[in-house]
Amino acid sequence: MGEKQASLGESTKDHAEKSGTAVNGKDAKVTIGDGIEKEGQTTYSHSRLSTFEQCPLKFKFGYIDKLETEIEGSIESFLGSRVHEALEKLYKDLKFEKENTIQELLDFYNSEWEKHWTGNILVVRKEYNSENYRKMGERFIIDYYNRYKPFNQTRTIGLEIRILIKLDDDGRYVLQGFIDRLSYAGDGVYEIHDYKTANTLPDQEKLDSDRQLALYAIAVKHKYRDCQKVRLIWHYLAFDKEVSSERTEAQLARLKSESVNLIKEIESAKEFPPKESALCEWCEYRPHCPRFKHLYKVEELEPVAFRKDEGVGLVNEYSKLRDEESRIKKELEKMSEKIMAFADQHKVDRVYGSDTRVTIWQKNCIKFPGKQDMDYPEFVKALRESGALQEFSTVDKWKLEKAFEQVDMDPEVMEKIAKFGKRELVKRVYSSKR
Ligand code: SF4
Repeated sequence: MGEKQASLGESTKDHAEKSGTAVNGKDAKVTIGDGIEKEGQTTYSHSRLSTFEQCPLKFKFGYIDKLETEIEGSIESFLGSRVHEALEKLYKDLKFEKENTIQELLDFYNSEWEKHWTGNILVVRKEYNSENYRKMGERFIIDYYNRYKPFNQTRTIGLEIRILIKLDDDGRYVLQGFIDRLSYAGDGVYEIHDYKTANTLPDQEKLDSDRQLALYAIAVKHKYRDCQKVRLIWHYLAFDKEVSSERTEAQLARLKSESVNLIKEIESAKEFPPKESALCEWCEYRPHCPRFKHLYKVEELEPVAFRKDEGVGLVNEYSKLRDEESRIKKELEKMSEKIMAFADQHKVDRVYGSDTRVTIWQKNCIKFPGKQDMDYPEFVKALRESGALQEFSTVDKWKLEKAFEQVDMDPEVMEKIAKFGKRELVKRVYSSKR
C-alpha cells in the first residue's frame, strides 16, 4: 500500500508484520531472502520505519507496547486489503489457466467484503459510508481488468511474496516486505508491481524517492542473478494509472545506509513524543494518545455531563479569559488613542483621572529594520562589517536552545557552552480554536 495509504491505517500486511502472523491468515507462499533471518534479530519493515517517521509515539504504541485497540484499522486500509485480495486471485487463477470474468472477480471481492466487515472499522470521512467505499473498490477492479486484459504483458513470478533485505554486511539489520506481484518482462527485466487505492496521485519526484519498492528491488536483484534491471511499478487504481521508476546501484546503496541510520535512531530512541499531523485522524491509537485521550472521553458524554467535566470547564474558563484579554487589549489601544488626541487638543502631556494619571511620552525616535523588514540582512551585514554586531546584538536564546537540543551546531561550540545549560521541565499552555 502507498505511503499515504499506509499511513491512513494499517494494511493487512502491516498488521501481519506487527503481530508476526501470516498474510491474510495464509502462509506467505514465497520468501525471497530465506536464511538471512537470525534468532534474536529485530526484523524491520518499511511500514515500521514510516510509522516512526510519522509519529514516534504511534511507533511506541504499535511496536513496543503492542497496544490492543478496538479500532480494526481504517476503511481505506480495509478497502485496500479487499482490492489486493481480488487482484491476487486474478493472477493466481491465471497461473492455473483460469481467467476470471469481471463478474466472478467482483463476486469474490464483495463476498470477502461481507466476510471481513465489522462495525469497528474506522470511517473518518463521515460524509461517506461503507457502501461508497465498497463501490469505489468495484470501480478500481473493473478499470484494472479492462486495462490489462488478457493479463499477458509479463509473466507472473509470484504474488504477495515475502522478501527479506539484508541492509548491512553483518546481517544485523534486516528488513521485511511483501511484494504484491513480481513479474518477469524478459531480457533480464523484473517488475515489482504495487497496487495503490489511495485517493492521491504522487508526482514523479515522489516516486523516484519512494523507499518501499526501492528496498524490495535490492532483494530482487540479489535473488535473481540474471536480473539486469528492476522496474518499480505502481498501479494507482483510483486514477486507472500506471506509474514507474527505477533506481541506480548508487541510489540503492545510499538507501541501504539511510535505512540503517534510521533503524539505529529508532533503536537508540529514549523518548517517543507525539507528532501531530493530518494523519492523526486515521490513527488507531487516538483513544490512548495524550493529544486526543481527553477528547475521546468527553465526546462520549451527554451535553450536561460534558459541560460538567472538569477539563472542559477549565478550558472554557481559560478560553473566556483569553477572549476577554484580547478584547481588553483592543479597548486599551483605542482608549490610548483617545487620551493622546485629548492631550494634543488641550496641549498637555499628562491627563488625570480619580486615582490614575496617564502620561504621554513622545519623541522622534530612530528605528532600524527588524527581522521582518526587507533590508534587515543588509543592515546586519553593515553592522558585522563595521565590527558593531557583537556589541549590539543579543543572543537568541530560543534559537540557541533549539539548535543545542537538536545537535544542530558545531560540536566544539556545544562542548564549550554545555556547562551553562541546566535541564528544567518547562510547561506551557497553548490554546487554539477546535
Ligand atoms: S494520534 Fe497522532 S500524535 Fe497521537 S499517536 Fe497517533 S499519530 Fe501520534
